[in-house]
Amino acid sequence: MDYEPEPCDSCGNHAVIARRVGAEVVRECEVCDNLEGPPDLIELLELQREADGLGVSIDSYPLAHFIEDLPGVRIIGDSGGDRKQGTMPFVAFELSDRRTWQLENIGQALRLMRGDLKCEWSIEFTFDFQMAFELHPRHDGEVKHTADQVQAARDDLVTIWRRLQTYRGLSWWKRE
Ligand SMILES: [Zn+2]
Repeated sequence: MDYEPEPCDSCGNHAVIARRVGAEVVRECEVCDNLEGPPDLIELLELQREADGLGVSIDSYPLAHFIEDLPGVRIIGDSGGDRKQGTMPFVAFELSDRRTWQLENIGQALRLMRGDLKCEWSIEFTFDFQMAFELHPRHDGEVKHTADQVQAARDDLVTIWRRLQTYRGLSWWKRE
C-alpha cells in the first residue's frame, strides 16, 4: 500500500491513511473523516458510512438508496444477506405510482449488465397485502447458500448500483 504524505484536502491534517478498496485507493483523514479518491468510490463509501450510522446493511443500502430515489418507487425492505446463515441479499420495493416504467428501467438495466454479474438476478412479483417486487439472485430452491455465494451477490449489489447510475443518464431510460 502506498503512503501519500499530502495533507487532508479538507482540514489540512497529515493524519491521512491510504486504503485500498478493490483495485482503487482512497485517502481517509483520521481527524475529520474526509475521503479523497475516485468520485464514484467515495460516493459508495459515504453511503456505506451512512448505512453504518443507520444500523442497516452496508451491502444493500447503496442500491436500495438508489431505487428509493426513483420517482414512483418505495423501498419496503432490503438485506445484504448473511454469510453465516447462507441467506442471499435482496431489495424489495413497491410501485407507489402504480405504473410500471421504473420496473422496465430496472429490468432493461439487468438485461444489459447480465454478463458482468456473478449471479443471475431476477425481479420477482410478490403479493403480501399489496403488490410488490423483489430484486434478488435467482436460486433453485436451495435454502442455504455458501459464504462465497453470498459474497458474490454482495459484489453484484455494488455493480448493479454503479451501472444503474450510468444507465439513468442514457436515452432509453424512461423518465417522467
Ligand atoms: Zn481532514
